[in-house]
Amino acid sequence: MAGPLADYLRRCIYDQGPLSVAEYMGLALGHSRYGYYMSKDPFGTNGDFTTAPEISQIFGELIGLWCAVVWREMGAPASLRLVELGPGRGTMMSDVVRAGSGVAGFIEATRPYLVETSPILRRRQEDTLGRAALKHPPTWCGNFAEVPDGPLIVIANEFFDALPVHQFQRTADGWSERLIDNDPEREGGFRFVLSGLATDLPESLPTGSIIETCPAGTAIAGTIAERLAAFGGAALIIDYGYSHNAVGDTFQAVRGHACSDPLEAPGEADLTAHVDFAALAAAAVVGGAAAHGPLSQGDFLRRLGIAERAAKLFERATAEQAVDIRAAVERLVSPKHMGSLFKAMALGPVGLSPPSGF
Ligand code: SAH
Repeated sequence: MAGPLADYLRRCIYDQGPLSVAEYMGLALGHSRYGYYMSKDPFGTNGDFTTAPEISQIFGELIGLWCAVVWREMGAPASLRLVELGPGRGTMMSDVVRAGSGVAGFIEATRPYLVETSPILRRRQEDTLGRAALKHPPTWCGNFAEVPDGPLIVIANEFFDALPVHQFQRTADGWSERLIDNDPEREGGFRFVLSGLATDLPESLPTGSIIETCPAGTAIAGTIAERLAAFGGAALIIDYGYSHNAVGDTFQAVRGHACSDPLEAPGEADLTAHVDFAALAAAAVVGGAAAHGPLSQGDFLRRLGIAERAAKLFERATAEQAVDIRAAVERLVSPKHMGSLFKAMALGPVGLSPPSGF
């Protein structure tokens, strides 16, 4: 297997032994020079995958109205930190700003914070948001903890699925962590091996079962929860994943809009794992917040009025545009597409009623 990142990973494994799936995923996506997100813009038809905000402006607009409603329910604070985790091309933030501009005072209050590690995508976001009707310029942060204190709304679409997961496999002798090693039988290839170390996981599952944990994701959910408890606000997490602790291997690679082997071509493919919403909710509760949902993306967007918003766009659309709008809405809400695999969960202070849509 060629490629500078594959060479780097091979040397790491040679020097220090097999990598955890989390270490492999973290380097394949985030290595400062060769990581997948560090070197390319992966979105769109010429890229590797398409996300909801790239499918239709309606997605970001509905989220923008959701943010403005939450801001009003917070008592319309004069200064709001609007934080987006992993903003991609900046499309969603720009649609949020356009829709939010219709709500008096919201844009005046909004200080956008973009949590992004990729220099290429930061530049892309700067371009996109340069055209947005913001009153306060955006600030970029490398991680959520850098966002200053204060009332906040956090939005994250397809961010948590990019955070590294560990995998554990049940063997006849107990649980072992799954690791990635150089493959001695295939020059330059990688293979899965087991650590041989038993860890403290449920004994009831059958041999061969795999469990995933995402310490990076639960840590961020916990930190967000602490901020919400201290300063008020809400977080909206949209991603694909499961609502109850599920068992199974969801570590996957996508390249050129098709699934590929996650151990082939590290750095060249997007690597993700399904988001364990129950684990994020549990971490948020420990951090002092309440979790609402998750509910399916289809239900969430319908409750926010996707049909009404589409009807508004139809009024000004050509016949061809109307066909595109209808197809985009179908893709976002239909269980055959993104409607049920993708889910929405909100976090907020304990004791308040659930935010709009939940
Ligand atoms: N939200 C966007 C992009 C999703 S892709 C959309 O829906 O289109 C994942 C995004 O998260 C990218 O912008 C990627 O660069 C960013 N990202 C991945 N890991 C990150 C990390 N650990 N910290 C900050 N940003 C990260």
